[in-house]
Amino acid sequence: MAIPTFVDQVTLHVYGGNGGHGCASVHREKFKPLGGPDGGNGGDGGSVILRVDHRLTTLVDYYRQAHRRATNGEPGRGNHANGARGEDVILAVPSGTVVTDADTNELIADMTSDGTEIVVAQGGRGGLGNAALASPARKAPGFALLGEPGETRTINLELKVVADIGLVGFPNAGKSSLIAAISRARPKIDDYPFTTLVPNLGVVVAGDFSFTVADVPGLIEGASEGRGLGFDFLRHIERCAAIVHVIDCATYEPGRDPLTDLEVIEAELKAHGGLEDRPRLVALNKIDIPDAREVAEMASGDLYDRGLHVFPISTRSGEGLRELIFAMAQLVKARRDSAPPPPPKRIVIRPKPVDVPAEFSVEREAELWRVRGEKPERWVQQTDFSNSEAVGYLADRLNRIGIEDRLLELGAQPGDGVAIGGANAVIFDFAPQVEIGAEILSRRGEDQRLIEERPAARRRREKDRAYHADEEISDVELGSEGDDA
Ligand code: GDP
Ligand code: MG
Repeated sequence: MAIPTFVDQVTLHVYGGNGGHGCASVHREKFKPLGGPDGGNGGDGGSVILRVDHRLTTLVDYYRQAHRRATNGEPGRGNHANGARGEDVILAVPSGTVVTDADTNELIADMTSDGTEIVVAQGGRGGLGNAALASPARKAPGFALLGEPGETRTINLELKVVADIGLVGFPNAGKSSLIAAISRARPKIDDYPFTTLVPNLGVVVAGDFSFTVADVPGLIEGASEGRGLGFDFLRHIERCAAIVHVIDCATYEPGRDPLTDLEVIEAELKAHGGLEDRPRLVALNKIDIPDAREVAEMASGDLYDRGLHVFPISTRSGEGLRELIFAMAQLVKARRDSAPPPPPKRIVIRPKPVDVPAEFSVEREAELWRVRGEKPERWVQQTDFSNSEAVGYLADRLNRIGIEDRLLELGAQPGDGVAIGGANAVIFDFAPQVEIGAEILSRRGEDQRLIEERPAARRRREKDRAYHADEEISDVELGSEGDDA
């Protein structure tokens, strides 16, 4: 049965940290003017990660701070010093949080089991330094790769809320006023097709503890036989930890007094069933009015005698509210602690940012050729376009996966525009290498100064590569080095 109909909702802007740039540096020693390349790799940027924490019940923590950023990776330095990784930002969310992409409305994840993590903004990878880029064919690269920017995304978090505390009482007892007086956040309430009465929900924050309070409007005598409207609303509090009777001590209606009101409401709850085992608190409201304070004092004794915890309050002056909130929090805590924690489970989901092929695709557009693909788009981001050697290296990488060949096959002419990427694509003039001629003596971007590599330098270089072992550099760059060397 779909019990909860309250919706706690928040929009968050999340930013992964940028990857640190790789360093281009040449080892220097006295009397040895040219050592090997020794620029370290940039550190990866931190990611923004959502993690389910079953102890949380609301998204209230995110109402005020809508922007969350992970830190950037540090740049690499000379002497093979790799930059530090950026730190992740881990955002705890309650179980049952549904995550959607705010721009596309697509579902990213429905987060339920405790400990489940989802990376909502991946940090950018750090760029390789020139030590890691060195190879037998390119012994002293005079450039390094740039760190990639972190992912940026706007997400909606939505939680179907189960009320922790249910407020019951006659109309005008002050239920809505109480919620307004003690709660900070007011989650949105789903449409009610069958009535103009709408239940209220508030999030009460008591120190580092928070819980939800919902009222049951229109619960009056006879509701269980269909005469009142409130009976339907009782399902919102079916899972609550405790019930609070809000009693109007200032009513002059005949036949009304705190004890009678309490009994009438209890009879309704009994007719509905299922809430007998929940502890009760009694809030005697409106004691800012002298007559009401007197009524409250007279009723207190009888209520205590029935074993009930009584709180004389005024939602208007605020008197007694702290004590009531504290008592509510105690009951909610006790129930949460007694509930068995869900089985620990850890699944890491990394949503794909966009629908882009892993290798590449080429499409003819009105003015230009558009190349999409995870690899080519990443390579473009890694390129320092102010360094011609770095640009040459990019051209080599693009060629190796066959982009130039494909463009020629499709009829691209020298001088045509080639856009690599989507919205913020980088546009190149198509200048196929075959046009330049077959006798390319050295590879573009090659630094010919270094002929021999010393064994120590080679070992360090291999270590630098291992640092980025997950990167495709191992299968693309290394694998094909031999072919054109
Ligand atoms: P509900 O029907 O139980 O939600 O009751 P409301 O919160 O709408 O309150 C009914 C009326 O009682 C409103 O006019 C409130 O201003 C008034 N009221 C609520 N709490 C207090 C209080 O502590 N003191 C006084 N004097 N009036 C109150
Ligand atoms: Mg109301």
